[in-house]
Amino acid sequence: MKTESDKTLKGKILMVDDLPEGLRTLSYLLNNQGYKVICVANGEVAINLIQQELPDLVVLDIMLPVIDGYKVCQIIKANPNTSHIPVVFLSGLDSEYDKLQAFKVGAIDYITKPFFVEEVIARIETQLSCFQKQRELEKIIEEQVKERLLAEEKLNQSRALLSSVLNSSADGVAAFESIRDSQGQIVDFRWLVVNPVAAMTVGKTSDSLLYQPLYENQPGYIFDGLFDLFLQVVDNCIVLEKEHYCDSGQFKAWFHVVAVKLGDGFAMTFRDITEHKHMEIALKKANQELKHQANVDSLTQIANRRCFDEYLTQEWARCGREHQYLAIVLCDVDHFKAYNDTYGHQAGDECLTKVAQSMKLVVKRPADLVFRYGGEEFALILPNTNEKGALEVAEAIRQQIKLLKITHNASTVGKHVTLSLGVACTIPSTASSPEALIANADRALYEAKSLGRDRTICAGIELPLF
Ligand code: GH3
Ligand code: MG
Ligand code: MG
Repeated sequence: MKTESDKTLKGKILMVDDLPEGLRTLSYLLNNQGYKVICVANGEVAINLIQQELPDLVVLDIMLPVIDGYKVCQIIKANPNTSHIPVVFLSGLDSEYDKLQAFKVGAIDYITKPFFVEEVIARIETQLSCFQKQRELEKIIEEQVKERLLAEEKLNQSRALLSSVLNSSADGVAAFESIRDSQGQIVDFRWLVVNPVAAMTVGKTSDSLLYQPLYENQPGYIFDGLFDLFLQVVDNCIVLEKEHYCDSGQFKAWFHVVAVKLGDGFAMTFRDITEHKHMEIALKKANQELKHQANVDSLTQIANRRCFDEYLTQEWARCGREHQYLAIVLCDVDHFKAYNDTYGHQAGDECLTKVAQSMKLVVKRPADLVFRYGGEEFALILPNTNEKGALEVAEAIRQQIKLLKITHNASTVGKHVTLSLGVACTIPSTASSPEALIANADRALYEAKSLGRDRTICAGIELPLF
């Protein structure tokens, strides 16, 4: 470890020579230039000092007592704590063999004695500067390796997190990249990410799907019909959210699919909503059934009284706004109590059903509706219809019921079931009301009964005072 005073030093040099007097000038000059110089005279002491001091450079003689310079150098290089320290040999031996031997054991330079002090200093400084640069470089690399390892660890952690999220998701999650032809047109997509649920949904394993095309060789595939929509996601950045029905013969299922652009491809989540969809369909059906039940008379299967009230309110307002006639007809089966008494209640029900269905056949315009008003009474609402028109429809109905020739021997009118009808008509306004219109029709019906039944009476038109 460097001490405080070491920090101002240019470097620490250990000189090993059994004749240190020869190095005095060199040591003095190096000291003057800001180096700390330690001189030792034998190899064994040198090795111990090197371990303790960790000098920046060692200047080593070859011929030394106890352990020679080559051996000292070998020991320095063999120890991982000291192997980085540059060793410069400074020796009186000047044969090629000696020089070669020095470099073989790890020397970085070889200077022969006698020497020029300036040259040795220059060489030492060069080696030190090289060594320092190398150390700096090593430190930078070390830092970079550390950063990289840290980044790799973070990446691994986020990969582990992502895969645990993907693996624990109850939805299918997948990512695809586009496969383009030579013109750049997308011809298919390739699986890039696929979680276990996604793989299971398409009947494969995650590994077998990776990098495989989405559509190629996959007839009756669950994503059939979505290719053009996926194209729009990739080419126009449109977010796709869709309930997709898949029917590949044996496999029928509903999926909720969401796809968003991701690079040159898209990420997709999909959820099997088959069970939910079946429930939704059943619920819709039940709702429709309820609505039907709420509006349709269960016996005659024509619209009921509730529906009559609603429709009358609606058409009253509309005809009023448009200054159009609105007509209603109340129809009552003649002597129906006697019919029930004669033929039984069940026959009475059948008779009412036949009458209702026949009435429905007579009205032709879509806006003209027939209702069961209550008991053996029926009603018609005829929007945009004046008195004359309403009378025509009422008469047509009366004739139609006669034509049914439903035997009614207890009737005072004839041998078959007949109707009495009351017609009322108006142009709706605030001066009147739907209730008043009904009351008028009812009065007309009462009159038809009083006049002998099996007839239509019109209440006479009431025009608003503008
Ligand atoms: P009028 O010619 O004056 O109308 O005489 P009516 O007998 O038809 O009139 P009344 O109001 O006295 O009797 C109506 C009968 O209609 C009584 C009732 O039992 C019968 N009725 C009402 N609703 C039903 C039904 O849903 N099924 C059957 N079978 N009969 C019904
Ligand atoms: Mg009645
Ligand atoms: Mg009746």
